[in-house]
Amino acid sequence: MQRELLEKQLREQKIELVRAIYAGPDGINRGKAFRPSDLDAVLESGIGLTQAQMSVTVFDHLSPLSHYQPVGEVRICPDISTFQVLPYLPGHARMLADVKTLQGADWELCPRSLLKDFLRKLFKQGMQIQAAFENEFTLLEKTEAGWEPVDQLNCFSSAAMDLASPFILPLISALEQQGIKVEKYYPEAGPGQQEIPVQHQAGLQAADQQVVFKETVRGVALANGYRVSFMPKISPAFAGNGCHIHFSLWDENQNLFYDPKGEFNLSKTALHFMGGILKHLPALMAFTAPTTNSYRRFVERCWSSSYTCWGPDNREATVRAASGFQGQEAATVNLEYRPCDPTCNPYLALSALICAGLDGIENQFEPGDPVLTDPALLTAEERRSLNMNAYPLDLEAALSALEQNSVLRSGFGESRITDFLTMKRAEIRMIDSLEDDGERLAYEFRF
Ligand code: GLU
Ligand code: MG
Repeated sequence: MQRELLEKQLREQKIELVRAIYAGPDGINRGKAFRPSDLDAVLESGIGLTQAQMSVTVFDHLSPLSHYQPVGEVRICPDISTFQVLPYLPGHARMLADVKTLQGADWELCPRSLLKDFLRKLFKQGMQIQAAFENEFTLLEKTEAGWEPVDQLNCFSSAAMDLASPFILPLISALEQQGIKVEKYYPEAGPGQQEIPVQHQAGLQAADQQVVFKETVRGVALANGYRVSFMPKISPAFAGNGCHIHFSLWDENQNLFYDPKGEFNLSKTALHFMGGILKHLPALMAFTAPTTNSYRRFVERCWSSSYTCWGPDNREATVRAASGFQGQEAATVNLEYRPCDPTCNPYLALSALICAGLDGIENQFEPGDPVLTDPALLTAEERRSLNMNAYPLDLEAALSALEQNSVLRSGFGESRITDFLTMKRAEIRMIDSLEDDGERLAYEFRF
């Protein structure tokens, strides 16, 4: 966005506060807000932030084992191209930010800079990624018993649409006013569960859009007397909140995942990318399913996927090869990565997918045979013969896999991985020390 246009909007919309928001490695959108009169200074030098803030857990706890301690400073540097007036909060605007060194260079823990690095790597090989994060979330209303899901109805039920309707249209309007194209809307399988797929975007914008999407869903809910939860598994009895990542690789003019002669219209590039993803699972899941609660979502026959495999339009597979729409196959064939949930940091999650996929392309990894059934319906022996592994049972298992994964370690950099492992292990210890419903209290409204 041009500077003059931004200043015009600040004036005309009577903006009092501009938020500079960054997505922390812990998955929480954080930031500091400034007065419009300080715009010049903020754009020139950023806003101060203690380095250790990027190492804190979702409980704002800093592990004594962390490399970063309360000495040392970085800067929150808003990206002017992401400026938006908040349609749901009069007087407020937002920019998304990188976290940089005092000299304005990329900082080693900034998730947004990491994604830019991976996008440059792709670009050097003549490729770009298009992606969309497909969130599910739970809409809650205030009752005498506390915050409860707005419905106890069915998946895609029009009666559930009626119950959510006072929230949905303001939400769609707020998303579209910020340039997010809403593709569909439907209530999902869990009580109060909603899904609003949005149009895919090129790499960085896709991750930025995910931050804006969650900010907007939460803000519109609050403005209309509701609350939302992005927690992956609110209750063992409810369908989980997933955040599948749809993606495809493109050169300047075509979808590199599409080959009309390939089985299921998939190219070699698509197969090798999937080969990389399956090879690097479960380490990848440390970034795409990054909370202790994430692992409660992976239950057989709950459509979350729970075994390492791929299949055409298979909603119980790690990667669903999504069929193209008739007449638009070349534009619409894409892959859907399913073991992701909305507690992820989208920059880290997309970086991890690209890192694994590029390794698959480089080494021409094969993804194995497509799975044409629900893996839970196979015997353990059949799954073994197809090289299908059950997902890690908990976050620590995914972190250990990450710790041992040399491709992700070198792709992300040692210091970033060490810091992430230290932070997430501190989070696990904290959750373990809580009472029975501690996990719910800890995660329900934080993301
Ligand atoms: N709620 C399911 C999950 O946990 C996904 C259902 C679907 O959209 O296929 O991922
Ligand atoms: Mg869904």
